[in-house]
Amino acid sequence: MQLYQNQHINIYNSLTGKKETFKPINSGYIGMYVCGPTVYSNVHLGNVRTFMSFDMVFRYLKHLGYKVRYVRNITDAGHLENDADVGEDKITKKARLEEIEPMEIVQRYTVDFHNVLDKFNFLPPSIEPTATGHIIEQIELISKIIDNGFAYEVNGSVYFDVHKYNETNDYGILSKRKLEDLIHNTRALDGQSDKRNPQDFALWKKAEPTHIMRWPSPWSDGFPGWHLECTAMSTKYLGEQFDIHGGGMDLKFPHHECEIAQNQAAKGQAPVNYWMHANMLELNGARMSKSTGNIINPAELLSGKNDIMSKGYSPSVIRFFMMQSAYRSVLDLTDAGLLASEKGFNRLMNAVDDLESLKTSNNSSFDIKKWKQNCYNAMNDDFNTPILIANLFEVVTHINAIKETRATITADDLKLLKETISTFVFDILGLKKTSEDNASGTDKLTGAVELLIALRKEARVNKDFALSDKIRDELAAVGIQLNDGRDGTTFSTN
Ligand SMILES: [Zn+2]
Repeated sequence: MQLYQNQHINIYNSLTGKKETFKPINSGYIGMYVCGPTVYSNVHLGNVRTFMSFDMVFRYLKHLGYKVRYVRNITDAGHLENDADVGEDKITKKARLEEIEPMEIVQRYTVDFHNVLDKFNFLPPSIEPTATGHIIEQIELISKIIDNGFAYEVNGSVYFDVHKYNETNDYGILSKRKLEDLIHNTRALDGQSDKRNPQDFALWKKAEPTHIMRWPSPWSDGFPGWHLECTAMSTKYLGEQFDIHGGGMDLKFPHHECEIAQNQAAKGQAPVNYWMHANMLELNGARMSKSTGNIINPAELLSGKNDIMSKGYSPSVIRFFMMQSAYRSVLDLTDAGLLASEKGFNRLMNAVDDLESLKTSNNSSFDIKKWKQNCYNAMNDDFNTPILIANLFEVVTHINAIKETRATITADDLKLLKETISTFVFDILGLKKTSEDNASGTDKLTGAVELLIALRKEARVNKDFALSDKIRDELAAVGIQLNDGRDGTTFSTN
């Protein structure tokens, strides 16, 4: 018996604008796709919030016992400036400015993306496919859309015919936009464009002679349009219909609208049952923007090396701060907010530590089972993490009361309380204890090697030179040199 058989989730579906009882296509299995980053710069803190929301969703679904296949792509080609069909490829532009290969840009910022997510204790997705690794699938998809009459080729580029599509389908079904309004609000084509209508979007673009990232296709040497990769990769790994598609609110239009249109045009059916959108992260009440200087990146927020915050914050405090807001709400990042979250987080962690030394009694003055179900109820209500955290603080008050002998708990209830707190705090919210959080990889290594140096010293005192030499040689074999000096032993790495 899996937990999901008793815990029923309601998800706010952007497609219908309503909370709906979640029912997966295949009982017990969930396919979830989230649009990943375009790797041409360091990951934006707003993106960290979006991906953190879906990390929390992934963690909860797994906890309920679902077998989840979570696909989050890496956009490494085809994303043009201003998210439009014209302009330079974002990655190519950066490569040109820095005079290096586009794939060096991709590599650098993919590594940065993973490092940052790792700091914030993200679980890796099940599959992380790249756009450049799925060119063949994208070409096949374009051919299908052309065959079905919803795309046309002009001068080596292929465009999706939005007007034709809208005759039999609803372009705007997700974003609630009407094609007539879009026509009214867009400027007419200037005669330079190959498109029939300004609303049409590129499925394939013919590469200019200077464009480095290019692939052969039936239409031209070129590259795929940005919207296409997600349709190709979600279909490949999750099937033509799958359960959950997520992304930032800013992707709803045109990106997700175009994904629906591409699927519908190629396969005659809507791809996704539940569309989920995470809201924006603001900084001191305003949109983050490089041009206004109202911006802070993850590294600056962690280190405190910035002019906006009074100090640096640990990854778990930042994560806790983000989880104190529902994923669908706009979240305002402020120093006061982070300070308050830090205080709350420390209070929670102190209570978690206190659980180990609580005295038990013959009866409980608090209904732990009911409280536990309230925690589930919060998460079942569209992943309402602020309500979950309110429940956690309710039990913190109770833990403190038991500690001060103003309340009581039985041994069985204490066991249940420990398990439940560990589940929600560490497994689902993805927080880490302060001691684990602050130690960087280097600090941990130092600690471990110093322990071995101490053991070696002890071995030498006991004249166990075989063991002492073994420690030195085995460390040397993994690249750590011990240097014996007058003031003791130090180490260096290579
Ligand atoms: Zn996407």
